[in-house]
Amino acid sequence: MKFASRLVNFDVCPEDPFRPMATPIYQTATFEQEHADSFGQYDYSRSGNPTRHVLEEQIAALENGTRGFCFASGMAAITNVVRQLKAGDEIVADSDLYGGTCRLFTKVLPKAGITVRYADAADSERFAEELTERTKLVYVESPTNPLLRVIDLKTLAAIAHARGALLCVDNSTMSPYLQNPLDLGADIALHSATKFLSGHSDVTAGAIVVKDAGLADEIYFLQNAEGNALSPFDCFLLLRGLKTLKLRLDAQQKNALAIAHFLAGHKKVRSVLYPGLAESPFYELQKRQARGAGAVLSFTTGSFDLARRIAEQTELFRIAVSFGSIHSTVSLPGQMSHASVPLELRDARAIPEDLVRLSIGIEDADDLIEDIAQALGV
Ligand code: PLP
Repeated sequence: MKFASRLVNFDVCPEDPFRPMATPIYQTATFEQEHADSFGQYDYSRSGNPTRHVLEEQIAALENGTRGFCFASGMAAITNVVRQLKAGDEIVADSDLYGGTCRLFTKVLPKAGITVRYADAADSERFAEELTERTKLVYVESPTNPLLRVIDLKTLAAIAHARGALLCVDNSTMSPYLQNPLDLGADIALHSATKFLSGHSDVTAGAIVVKDAGLADEIYFLQNAEGNALSPFDCFLLLRGLKTLKLRLDAQQKNALAIAHFLAGHKKVRSVLYPGLAESPFYELQKRQARGAGAVLSFTTGSFDLARRIAEQTELFRIAVSFGSIHSTVSLPGQMSHASVPLELRDARAIPEDLVRLSIGIEDADDLIEDIAQALGV
């Protein structure tokens, strides 16, 4: 089956005699056991829940993995991955990461004796030099957020594996419709499912998909031990949003390209960061490893005041952190989503203060362009 068909054709409720078209919400904490000395398929929702099970199977299938796991947030999913490490291990991460990930890596992990080093993963030769025998995890996003740099995932997987490390790719800016990290050699595909997977800004969720059975067992063990799995109702919302992923992203991506072209031709715009533009240095690589450039783009104007004016004067673009929703949003990453990145790192990775990030929704492209044009002050 093609992706569009897979999104809506799956077993929404295994073994249910009534054959519902939508997965019911099994809003129960516990399940009655037939015998005192043996468990049935489900016994307690922290350990497993039928609504979550359907969602986890579907996300695993869409990412071409074997097992999926859903969490209360993207950060909970990332926490599960890094908790696979122990004191003395190290992570080598790309230098352009979501601010919350960076906060976890720099403020929380050192307390557990785990070191994190950052390097530019778009320069794979230089990045490879950062790995040592203590490196157990290589962690990247691609395209990165908010600078929209593209990382050669096949090359990075080879670099990580040569050192015996796992590669985890945060696939939130792409979704499995546009990119499948596991097919490119990654060991873990991770999502802030709050973004494109949900698509409606109505649920906070995270997901992990893997192929390796041993790794899956470790992830499941921690998911149950730490109790941060996604609730049945949120699983239902995510299952509902997921069905229209292709429709939404096709529309969002078409709008994004039109807006990128408009911005690239505007005299007040200095640079447009979007790997879907032929003039982007990442255009060819993105075309090779993904099936589109997505619906997040950033641009600079050379002026922080103008950046703030654009954010505040656009009417269809609401000022909001996050991305991937059917609503268009605007943010100033340096002041908002990436404010939690320590200042020294923010300087090193050069997130310009005039950087404006747009997440493009499903509105009419003409309306969106007109809105940006009036905010730019033609
Ligand atoms: N990964 C990326 C790329 C993100 O942008 C975010 C949040 O914005 C996260 C992970 C964290 O996900 P959540 O907010 O669902 O915890």
